[in-house]
Amino acid sequence: MTRSVPITEEAPQLFRIALPLWPRHPLGHVNVYLVLSDAGPILIDCGPDTPEAYETLLQALRTLGVAPADLRTLFLTHAHPDHCGLLVRLREAAPLRCYAHPEEASGAHRESSPNGALDEWFARAGVPETERTAFREISRTFQRRACAVTLDRPVTGEETLVWPPYTFRVLWVPGHAPGLLCLYEPARHLLIASDHILPDTSPHVGSLPHRHDKPLSSYLASLERIRQLPVERTLPGHGQPFGEARPRIEELLVHHRERLQEVLTVLADGPKTAYEVATRLAWMGRRDSWPRLDPFQRFLALTETIAHLEHLVDIGELVASDGRYALLPL
Ligand SMILES: [Zn+2]
Ligand SMILES: [Zn+2]
Repeated sequence: MTRSVPITEEAPQLFRIALPLWPRHPLGHVNVYLVLSDAGPILIDCGPDTPEAYETLLQALRTLGVAPADLRTLFLTHAHPDHCGLLVRLREAAPLRCYAHPEEASGAHRESSPNGALDEWFARAGVPETERTAFREISRTFQRRACAVTLDRPVTGEETLVWPPYTFRVLWVPGHAPGLLCLYEPARHLLIASDHILPDTSPHVGSLPHRHDKPLSSYLASLERIRQLPVERTLPGHGQPFGEARPRIEELLVHHRERLQEVLTVLADGPKTAYEVATRLAWMGRRDSWPRLDPFQRFLALTETIAHLEHLVDIGELVASDGRYALLPL
């Protein structure tokens, strides 16, 4: 029995291919896009390095009449393993030119750090010794899945990519990843949004040991930037495509405003470490939910909490000293 191939034509000559993620991954699928440009087929992201995703991608390409060897251009929105994992395998099949932001190239962006730096980071965040072993293991999983992104064509934003019938403007929208890129088609008001704007979930924005920027400050500024654009069709990295981007951006901005307020409320009774703040916030929509989170969810929750704390320091609402955060004295 052949499985149905998960392809949708989202616009003329522009197809969405939904590839399966790892088992039990909360997002289920990742969307990669294929432009059957008059200049040749162009793949935008390529999915995780799993046999199932690779087989599904090959099947989809076959259905659309494209042999892997025909692919010449791969545009990577960012270097998370659900979006770029198959890069190495595809390169074995075709002489691909890889377009991505230099921040996402190997060495510039990794989901792990040397153990010493990691331990220092956990200690600073106030993570108790009992949880550090699990967190270290999660970091190692990130490392195993990290992709070697070597760039043939660095893109940093504002370039114009002429892929007839499309002319895309590259938008650099740091936040979810430091070198995240979206593609905007002004004539059709179409946005390939990747993980910058997702329909059903708030994209993960977390501080990680290797990141030296302020992810949430960057993310909020990047959302504002896209809010200014007339986007009528939004093609996300996960979930179903949707219409205008602006209403969803408003929801995401409200979500983060509320979250920032919650963090300030938690700190009202005195300074705390990031870990102490994270354990007092509501997760998965429920208060007192920290004990219900598995180690992976806790790790992500902690990185998100730190991103919120750093943003509050950035905008002058908090002070930080020796890993503890406090409200400004009155
Ligand atoms: Zn991502
Ligand atoms: Zn993703």
